[in-house]
Amino acid sequence: MLPRFVRTQKLAATAAHLMGFAPKQLRAALRDICLFGALAVLVLTSGSVRSMAQNRPSAEPAKGVQILLLGTHGGPSLEKDRSEPSSLLIVDGRPYLIDCGIGTMRRLLEAGIRSETIRTIFITHNHPDHALGLVDVMANDFLSVDFSRDPGSARTFDIYGPPQTAEVVNAAYSYIRIPYGVFAAENLGASTLVNPFKAHNIDRNGLVYQDDKIRVTAAENTHYQLMEAKYRARMKSYAYRFETPYGAIVFTGDTGPSDALAQLAKGADVLVSEVADLSAMPNAQQRRPDANRQPSPNESALAKHMQMEHLPIKDLGDMATKARVKAVLMHHFVPANHTERFISGVKKYYAGPVFAGEDLARYCLGVPGGEAADAQTISPCR
Ligand SMILES: [Zn+2]
Ligand SMILES: [Zn+2]
Repeated sequence: MLPRFVRTQKLAATAAHLMGFAPKQLRAALRDICLFGALAVLVLTSGSVRSMAQNRPSAEPAKGVQILLLGTHGGPSLEKDRSEPSSLLIVDGRPYLIDCGIGTMRRLLEAGIRSETIRTIFITHNHPDHALGLVDVMANDFLSVDFSRDPGSARTFDIYGPPQTAEVVNAAYSYIRIPYGVFAAENLGASTLVNPFKAHNIDRNGLVYQDDKIRVTAAENTHYQLMEAKYRARMKSYAYRFETPYGAIVFTGDTGPSDALAQLAKGADVLVSEVADLSAMPNAQQRRPDANRQPSPNESALAKHMQMEHLPIKDLGDMATKARVKAVLMHHFVPANHTERFISGVKKYYAGPVFAGEDLARYCLGVPGGEAADAQTISPCR
């Protein structure tokens, strides 16, 4: 019996002979068919993604703020039903991405968002569940620039994050340019590979970004408080406050209780926060049977990390009250099952509205698309 590959080749040669092709011509024809097929899939896929988006209520409005949750599970273990942390803040139709865990690109497709329309990305910290999805998004961005065959179009993508973000972005670009270099060698993409990604390391608190829609302020939180000083000097974890014409939205990033964060969140319209239920955390024994949940090599360090460098339900409620935020929107659930208990838990310590986000859920602020009668209060988009 011939190996399958040889059999396929022999079959193709016979078919070529019968069709009147020389094998070399057949290879060229097949390549053209493959390329045409790939492009057809691309066109059909983007068509179906567009129609998905058209069917979806409250696609990006021309006015107001939308928060679109792309991933709501705290990693790094991957989950089947929830993607890793990533959120899209859409202001007057312009999207800004906050964090980019594994699975972000797939969720963008499902939401009907073309990644190349996102020109500005903010990373809160460089833990795997917040940064490793960047390569997928960048690869898709690169495809759009490269296939436009207009590398001089000055289309750039700006990625802001803590120190080391430039290393992450440059490494990701080095990685993706190898496979795209193959396309270039085949004259299928642009022959000149131009890097459209510009990384910006944020090394201090304060104003980090401003354009005609948003103003972004960073504050270092306590997510790395147990880290040795020598590492903490170059690895930072930030919370960001986004001021928009419709209100202020604060993303906690990952953090333990933090005075700097409470100060940053003062009077915000929405606190988009991580949350952890330590009482429901599986212990090492319970994690082992699940192949995708590896026990930590250092269980006691992990327990300390979860207690001090993440936000238990009570601490989130207390901070929201202290900062007088107008609403709390939770994501980055650890663990991510039975999330309704997080709502009742936070409500014991905070009197305002509390939402437990799902992947692909959209929340509206300052736009009549929300469920709330008062457009100044965040609510699920209708
Ligand atoms: Zn995380
Ligand atoms: Zn983290």
